[in-house]
Amino acid sequence: MNIATTTITQVQHELLCACPSCGSAELSGIYAQDDVPVSSCLLFENATAAAAVERGDIRLTHCAGCGFIFNAAFRAGASEYSERYEETQGFSPTFSRFHTRLAQELIDTHDLNGKEILEVGCGKGEFLLLLSHLGGNNCLGVDPSALPDRIKDAPGAERVTLIRDFFTPDMADRAFDAIICKMTLEHIIDTLDFLSVIREAVTEGSQPLVFFQIPNAMRILTDAAFEDIYYEHCSYFTDGSLVRLFEKAGFTPLRVLHQYEDQYLTIECTVGEPTAAMGPALVADDDRAEIASLAAVLAQRLAGRQAEWAQKIAAAAEAGKKVVMWGSGSKAVAFLSSLPAPQLIDAVVDINPNKQGSAMPGSGHDIIAPSELIGIDPDLVIVMNAAYCTEIMEDLASMGIAAQVVAL
Ligand SMILES: [Zn+2]
Repeated sequence: MNIATTTITQVQHELLCACPSCGSAELSGIYAQDDVPVSSCLLFENATAAAAVERGDIRLTHCAGCGFIFNAAFRAGASEYSERYEETQGFSPTFSRFHTRLAQELIDTHDLNGKEILEVGCGKGEFLLLLSHLGGNNCLGVDPSALPDRIKDAPGAERVTLIRDFFTPDMADRAFDAIICKMTLEHIIDTLDFLSVIREAVTEGSQPLVFFQIPNAMRILTDAAFEDIYYEHCSYFTDGSLVRLFEKAGFTPLRVLHQYEDQYLTIECTVGEPTAAMGPALVADDDRAEIASLAAVLAQRLAGRQAEWAQKIAAAAEAGKKVVMWGSGSKAVAFLSSLPAPQLIDAVVDINPNKQGSAMPGSGHDIIAPSELIGIDPDLVIVMNAAYCTEIMEDLASMGIAAQVVAL
C-alpha cells in the first residue's frame, strides 16, 4: 500500500543523492534492474494491455550512515494505487489465520478493547474489521485503494470507517489509542517525511501504540530473495535502520519482532517516555557493518539465484514439461521480470477470484483459477511464497494433480 503524502522533485533517471531516512550522502549502488513494471498488482484485461504497463528502473542503493536500502531511481507517484489495485491476501486461509492471530495478539498485548484505532494504508480494511470484530474497537482506515462497499456487510463493519484517499494529519480527528500501518512504509521513498506526518497526527498529550509492519529486508540480503525486489517496494529496512528512522522522526521504539516465517518486520513504538506497562524504550543493536557487508555481495548472489531458476525452467520445458506459477502478486511479477524466457511458463494461478481472468503486468500471462489447472495438467508448480506450500499441495491433491511443487 502506498501513502505518498509529500512530493519529491525528481525527474526520471535522476538518482536520489541523499538518504531519505537520515540525509547522509554516503551512498553506494548495490543492484540495478531496468524496465520493470511499476505496478505489479494492477488488473489488466488482456495481454496487450498488460504488456503496455508503465515501466521503471531499480537502482538499489545502500546508505552507510543508517543502513537503509532504497531504490534511488524510484519516481513517487509512478505506481497506480486505485480501485484497479488488487493486493489482498485475504483469500488464502494461511494468511487469514496469520492475520486473525496478529489482530488477537495486538488486542491482548495492548488491551485494545473498545478503543480508538487508526490504520494508515489500510488496503481494503480487512485488518480493521478484525480489530473491530474481535475487540469492539472503533476504527478509522485511510487508503487510496479502499473500497468501503466491499466490506459493508462484514462482521465488525459497523465500527469501521474507511476513507479512500492518501493520509494527511487532519484526518486524525481524535486521540487514537493505536496507530497502525501495515505493509505501507516500504512503498514510500520519502521515509522520514512520511513518519513525520504520522508523528504530527498524534494528538498532543496522548501516548498511542504505534505499530508498523513491513517486509524484512534482512531476508532479502541473506537469502538473495530477488522475488522480493520490485518497483513498488522502494524502501528496504532491517531492524537497525527501522529503529533509527523512528527515533529520528520523534518516536520512542519499544520492540522489534520478526513474524510470518521471518518475512515480516514489526516495530512497536510510542511517543515520549514509555509508561511502566509499555516497558522500557528499545536499545537497538548496531547492524550497520553487517548490512554493509551483505549489501556489497548482493548483486552477485541475486544473479546466481536468478540463473538457477532460469536453468530449472528451461530444463523442464526442454523435457516437454508444463510449468505453472502459483501466486500472481508482486513476487510473481518480479520473478517473471528476471527470467530470460518468461514464455516458458504456461500460466499463473491465483486463488483470488478478483484477479482470475486478468493478465500479468508486463509478461501478459493469463491469471487462472486453480480449477483451470485440471485442463493444463502441469508437471511443475512454482510457488511464489513457501508459506503457502501446504495449502497449495492440498488444493492440487484434491484436483488429482500430481505435479512437482517447488517454492522460491
Ligand atoms: Zn541513511
